[in-house]
Formats: sequence, C-alpha cells, structure tokens
Amino acid sequence: MVRKLLDNVLRDTAQPIIEITDEIRELLNDMLETMEINNGVGLAAPQIGISLQLIVIRVDGITYKLVNPIILKEKGLQSSDEGCLSLPGKVGKVWRPEKVVITALDENGAKIKFTAHKNLARVISHEVDHLNGILFTDKLREF
Ligand code: ZN
Repeated sequence: MVRKLLDNVLRDTAQPIIEITDEIRELLNDMLETMEINNGVGLAAPQIGISLQLIVIRVDGITYKLVNPIILKEKGLQSSDEGCLSLPGKVGKVWRPEKVVITALDENGAKIKFTAHKNLARVISHEVDHLNGILFTDKLREF
C-alpha cells in the first residue's frame, strides 16, 4: 500500500541498511511489485511506510534496486511535469539535475556507481529526495 501525503513517514529521514538480508531482498521485490501495480517508474521504501534507504526504479526497461543510494554529483538542469504515487492527482513542473552520478549497493551488497541522464536522472533525484523526507511539491517551479 502506497502511503499518501501527510503520513509522517514520508517526512522522516530514512535509515541506512546495515546488512542486506533475504528480508531486504524480498522487500525490494515487494516494492517493485507495488510500483508496477501503480504504474510508477520509481518507489522509495518510505512510500510503503518503511523508513529505510531503499529505492526501486524502472526506466527504459531497465530495473534498478538501490540500497543506501547517494548522489555524488549533479550537473545541469531539466524541468518537466512530475507526479508521485504518494500524491495522487498532483502534477507539477520541477527542476531536476540533467545528469547525476550515483553510488549505491546492489541487492547483493556489491558497490555500484553510474551516471544517469535525462529521465533516469530525474527519477533518481525524485526517489533519493524521498529518503530525505522531501516531496516534489516542495520543489515546484516558480512561474
Ligand atoms: Zn514520489
């Protein structure tokens, strides 16, 4: 079940994962399923009421399961309409970096690092914000 606005867990800072167990891997799979059922492109654990640093993303047919993600670098700016499974019906223009360099652990605990552009960069920025209690409506572009 996707948590909605005003649920306090969405405003908490999510806790880092100390050890990637089978339960964590199962949770990542549950998150992916919840994301797909709701036609989302990304989901962060706080959105299902769990304050842990886990995000799942599917962009351009590629699935990402990221544990303790950290954005190392941001470059450029892009702006486009954005929505959020936790804010049903709300859409707004948000500035996001055009490019991000991200590091995280994969579901097996291996360290990964990659550069994301365009839409993937936007989704990563949105989902990492969730881990810091930030919602896209906090960043709505001024006109
Ligand atoms: Zn969201």
